[in-house]
Amino acid sequence: MVAMAIKLTPRSVTEKCGLCGREAAASADGPRLYLADRETAVCQGCGQKHAPSLAALVRLAQVARHVGRIGRHTVVPPMEALLALAQAAETYCTSVPAVARRAG
Ligand SMILES: [Zn+2]
Repeated sequence: MVAMAIKLTPRSVTEKCGLCGREAAASADGPRLYLADRETAVCQGCGQKHAPSLAALVRLAQVARHVGRIGRHTVVPPMEALLALAQAAETYCTSVPAVARRAG
């Protein structure tokens, strides 16, 4: 098992994935997956493979942030943005083990 952590990056950075060596997604600043014991980023694919709930949570945070930014400039965000947010939320909910869901 690979221990991972979510860390906030203050700026957009491009790093190699610490597990597969491919480029970890160079998203804008915000939450990203890292190896828990090192300052090494993890790509979305490896995150989904080794820590699916954390990867889904990072994705949910990224989509929510995007929709929030859109919402600052419009009364209602576009339907596609809201659907992306709903899909990210559903993916997160289904990625959390049943025991954790009952406890929360
Ligand atoms: Zn990887």
